[in-house]
Amino acid sequence: MLSCLKIAIPGGRILKVRTSFPYKGSPIGYRVLINGRTGVVVGFAEEGKEESLVFPDKLPFTDLKNLEAVKDLALIYGLPTWQLMWELIPSHWNWTEESFLEVSLSSFQALDPKTRQILSWIADRKLVKEELAKKRFGSELINMLVKKGLLRVKKDWSAPDVEVELFKLNVPFEVALSKLRRTKRYAERVRLLAYLRERLYASREELREEGFSSEDLKALISRGIVKVERELMQNFAINPRSELRMGGGFLVKKLEKPTVVVGSLSRLAESLFALIEDALGEGKSLAIFSFYNPTLSWLLRELKPIFGDRVVSLSSFESPKQFIKNWFLAQEKGRIVLTGRMGLLVPFKDLYAVVLFDDYYTKLNRYIDLRNFVSQLYKYYGCQFFYYTCALGVDTYQRVKSGQWEMEFLGYSAEVRLLKRKPEEILTQELLSELEDNSLLLVRKTGYSYAYCPKCGFLVDCPKCGTFLTLSKANNLYCTRCKWKGPAECTHCGGKIEQYGFGIERVMEEVERHGLLRENIHFDTKPSVAGVYKKVFLVHGDNILSVPSLNAEEEFWKYIHRARAIAKERFYIQSFLDKEIIENYLREDFLEAELERRREENLPPFSKIILAVFTKEKQKP
Ligand SMILES: [Zn+2]
Ligand SMILES: [Zn+2]
Repeated sequence: MLSCLKIAIPGGRILKVRTSFPYKGSPIGYRVLINGRTGVVVGFAEEGKEESLVFPDKLPFTDLKNLEAVKDLALIYGLPTWQLMWELIPSHWNWTEESFLEVSLSSFQALDPKTRQILSWIADRKLVKEELAKKRFGSELINMLVKKGLLRVKKDWSAPDVEVELFKLNVPFEVALSKLRRTKRYAERVRLLAYLRERLYASREELREEGFSSEDLKALISRGIVKVERELMQNFAINPRSELRMGGGFLVKKLEKPTVVVGSLSRLAESLFALIEDALGEGKSLAIFSFYNPTLSWLLRELKPIFGDRVVSLSSFESPKQFIKNWFLAQEKGRIVLTGRMGLLVPFKDLYAVVLFDDYYTKLNRYIDLRNFVSQLYKYYGCQFFYYTCALGVDTYQRVKSGQWEMEFLGYSAEVRLLKRKPEEILTQELLSELEDNSLLLVRKTGYSYAYCPKCGFLVDCPKCGTFLTLSKANNLYCTRCKWKGPAECTHCGGKIEQYGFGIERVMEEVERHGLLRENIHFDTKPSVAGVYKKVFLVHGDNILSVPSLNAEEEFWKYIHRARAIAKERFYIQSFLDKEIIENYLREDFLEAELERRREENLPPFSKIILAVFTKEKQKP
């Protein structure tokens, strides 16, 4: 039967096409291949041009429910719906038609050596992109072989190369340390190694974002200390050291309202396990979203040994082939679908609940908050919504207070200790004596320190964006915001600078000076929800409060609660500030007071604030 379809193509344009749909049910949500590119059927049209197109998948690629949630998200940010939809579609699905070459002969005996070389090269690979062959052997030669009939051109569809490079430690941390040379770059390389150890792996973009240099990375790879991998899935299959088991006692309430579940990480995990059992008990599926890759891979390692093949992962850890397979697997009943940004459009079957696990990195392009997508999606699926978090934010608290959402508070297991640091100290004596294996040290500042110019009398800032610059151990200045780099001199007067304050590299140096730098002492700039430590030490986080921002206090609150949530036994807060100030952030009514302050001052969530960034104009000479 002929029908007119609305097809959205990459970039967001709509084509109206008259065609016949080859499968049962509604065509909405199916992919089509049309005029050399990919489109998605998003609705019906009243009329359309007759054009030839192909439906490459036997199952729908997405569902009307997901498309409705995309519309809601587009409305919130005032964006064109279908352009946004294509931003949310993983590139695995965006096929384009390309020309490939194949060899038409079976024997190359009578040919000249050059021709034989080209033909064997292509024959070995069966099908080679025409563009690639031309790059390698030259267009003229290839065109001639096609003309002579020795090579055949074949049109076919291909997905862009979507493999990601992932970097990880190639040797145990202590071995890596012993292999490092004491060069000027020593401290930065130690930090890079520590970073990889905490996360198991990291992508190139992530490392760049954290301010690591690509030269350091290259040097560590060439010395066999760091390795690059493309498919990591098999390495993540099972975590034999999993500390989280099925625990009784957690009854997840069945409620119509969304439920926010707050507490320490191991308690959240136990509650999640109970929820999964409920879902599977009813033969239903569960969609778990987490937008921070380390959290996602940690969840996978925890869930896979318990729930086995029921768990379907959709993330950048899978090879493109596996990813596409899992996409359709996720549409079966009784699956635990573990995904993030790449799985927003999965058409789920028979959902028991939509779960958002942790709220790190929820922003797309720095401003589209994907929590707004997830918290719409559940409504269209008519299921429950659970929001698991280690630290409640003011906006979520307000939803609970106003009765829109329910809250289940599981509490934190770690006991808190405060350590008062003297101005000249980096690590207090007490901290050093409490440090033991399976500890995490948090320092909320990258690099070695800030830089102070005694002549100008202030902290040296970035000439491009105005952020305070960071001094590295190698004695360079760099900007953590815009990546500007420069020599260790004042950006205003060119004068000599001094160290000011301290960052993670300085702390690592200090720990090493006391002979305590070893495999089971971990370092990080932020508390990642990706594992539990016996003890967590916040070595330095006071700098959050010194930033003049309307949510600095909330940021500090969240930082310390996330840190507390990943500590099993004890959480230490070392601070230069008075104990009473820090204690204020541990009070249970902190969010209530913060909400009240914002109501009085008419700040978000009671009003909307637009953050405008003005970059300095280039000065004319
Ligand atoms: Zn900058
Ligand atoms: Zn100066």
